[in-house]
Amino acid sequence: MTKHETYYGLPHDVKFCKKCIMSNQRPASTVEFKHTKDSKKVTMNFDEHGICDACRANEQKASINWNEREEKLLQLLDKYRKNDGSYDCLIPGSGGKDSAYQAHVLKYKYGMNPLTVTWPPILYTDYGYKNFKNWLDVGGFDNVSFNRNGKVMKLLTKLSIENLYHPFQTFILGQKNLGPKLAAKFNIPLVFYGENEAEYGNPIADNSSSLRDKSFYSFNNINDIYLGGVSIAELREKYKVRLSDLMSFLPPTAEELSKNDIQVHYLGYYLKWTPQEVYYYAVENTGFQARPFRTQGTYSKYNSIDDKIDDLHYYTTYIKFGIGRTTYDASQEIRNHHINRDEAVALAKKFDGEFPDKYFNEIMEYLEINPEYFKNELCDKFRSPHLWNKVNGEWKLRYNVWGGGTDDK
Ligand SMILES: [Zn+2]
Repeated sequence: MTKHETYYGLPHDVKFCKKCIMSNQRPASTVEFKHTKDSKKVTMNFDEHGICDACRANEQKASINWNEREEKLLQLLDKYRKNDGSYDCLIPGSGGKDSAYQAHVLKYKYGMNPLTVTWPPILYTDYGYKNFKNWLDVGGFDNVSFNRNGKVMKLLTKLSIENLYHPFQTFILGQKNLGPKLAAKFNIPLVFYGENEAEYGNPIADNSSSLRDKSFYSFNNINDIYLGGVSIAELREKYKVRLSDLMSFLPPTAEELSKNDIQVHYLGYYLKWTPQEVYYYAVENTGFQARPFRTQGTYSKYNSIDDKIDDLHYYTTYIKFGIGRTTYDASQEIRNHHINRDEAVALAKKFDGEFPDKYFNEIMEYLEINPEYFKNELCDKFRSPHLWNKVNGEWKLRYNVWGGGTDDK
């Protein structure tokens, strides 16, 4: 068999988990502000039975004593709880189902006084904005939304597309960094995120603690940092961006964090987290609404619907790793016993890799990128030869989960 070149340090042989439909090409979360063109990905581990770490992590959940975990949560909350009118915890989020649930249980079930903070989407969808408003108006929360320099936001998003084919990087940066940073500024040392990324395939060891690894949201040396794949020095010299206009994309310094003793916890460590149940909870308590139409590239209507660029993000994961949005959604639903593997395979066959044209032209116009360039020349640059095969002028995956790839036979 011919050995095809692999990009991004991905494993050469493509395998699919025997339990869900995720492939071994799935990268673990990276430290986004160190991401360059040449970064090598750490990918999800598969065990000797061909089962992925995300499935194993989910099986382990079944043996967790959730009463004990809740007890631990109560101890933690009691340590930080304030009754003098000040905020005692900080919840970063968009008002999507997860942050809506988090904020609501912490405030109304456990009696905390959260401040919610929002790094707004690059381009809000109408539904995303309505859910954000409902979160505050129906749920009842104070919120600080940080509106960054839009010109720099556009530049960095464009660079991350051109250099990394990663349209969502600027959003992810803000989502990960804003919370701990504002926590330090407002002196609210307890920060809650929802689920640990290990649920979705980071190394299982990450899942054994409630604390988020500091490397994700702090830095020591500004020379280590890249935004849109470009160093800070180059952004300043070549693109004439001021450091003060870049700071909002950067995490707090390690020093800032330790000075204030900021702790970032996953609420999903303490409370059992099932996306479908979290969705029902948010509908009932914070006025959350699914989109009445299916998200392009998948079959779901309620996951990550705030940002018009989100759909494009999953299209680029399909190009770079051969993993479309259906594969992510359906794998999660298999693990939570909502669908079986055959159903998931059929869904992936139907929707994975569907081009998200609904908002596409609007996004390209906003970013001032030629749509044809994005779809063809640029796109093809990021197709790893070990995943993609050009047959009669048409790109096809070499391997897919239903065995219909060009090299599957
Ligand atoms: Zn799996």
